[in-house]
Amino acid sequence: MSTASINGCYLSSFSASKTSLTTPTLRPTTISARLATPPPPSSSSSSIPSLIQNRPVFAAPTPLVPTLGELQTTAEARAVQVKAQVGTPISEGIASSEAVERIKAGFIYFKREKYEKNPALYGELAKGQSPKFMVFACSDSRVCPSHVLDFQPGEAFVVRNVANLVPPYCQTRYSGVGAAIEYAVLHLKVSNIVVIGHSACGGIKGLMSIPDNGAVPTTDFIEDWVKIGLPAKARVKAVHGSAPFPELCTHCETEAVNVSLGNLLTYPFVREGLVNQTLALKGGYYDFVKGSFELWGLQFGLSSAFSVKDVATILHWKLY
Ligand SMILES: [Zn+2]
Repeated sequence: MSTASINGCYLSSFSASKTSLTTPTLRPTTISARLATPPPPSSSSSSIPSLIQNRPVFAAPTPLVPTLGELQTTAEARAVQVKAQVGTPISEGIASSEAVERIKAGFIYFKREKYEKNPALYGELAKGQSPKFMVFACSDSRVCPSHVLDFQPGEAFVVRNVANLVPPYCQTRYSGVGAAIEYAVLHLKVSNIVVIGHSACGGIKGLMSIPDNGAVPTTDFIEDWVKIGLPAKARVKAVHGSAPFPELCTHCETEAVNVSLGNLLTYPFVREGLVNQTLALKGGYYDFVKGSFELWGLQFGLSSAFSVKDVATILHWKLY
């Protein structure tokens, strides 16, 4: 594993195969800890705010969001700007009423069949959340992890993006993902982070389709984003270079999960959780064509705790 730091962003060539579980070491000590030092005690009797809490979080941080009125004003201002640019008013869209009816019907069903039939669950969730899982899954509409793994409300803190990628630590380029990981690990104190890849992933196909000649990207965001998985692409091409393109994509769907697991190690609070054995990382792969789910873990050599390699093999077969 090689590591470089550019403008606070950590680039890594780490890639661990689920079929050849290696024991990568911790990141070099050149990566400085980002855990904030608590401020000195004040004269007030109120408790000192801390990033690390020893109890489940039952309230979200104070949101720094505009009021509804401000939001409307902003939206209206944007609409006026766009209208001035394109010369026509902005409509809600031709399918608006159909969409509203679908949303209404969905919520009515949920409220009647789930919310009102589980007052204990929703009553508890009204107090706060204490999920055990943080899950990275693709935005693909076919792979909702709550649906596939039957997570109930409150069980999983979910981040979904194109190709279920976890970028390396970077406060400028990937702060959205970093904020979610920081909140899940330090505040919610999840005990598992699971990265789930899936069959026929369009994002991975896009990654594998990027020409190697350094051509100018043809998309505003997609190519730059999926390039997080370039180490996976390189590994797949090195190991399975002569295989047909669809097969390469399938291999890359799994390897990209391993790259994401490696990238999780660039977050100081994730490393700390692994060292303290309060956190485990797992890879998953959902094949919606076969109707199967694989689960595996990576032994990072951070402790003598069990390796989930054998467990993963068992789960692999049982979940078919
Ligand atoms: Zn996908």
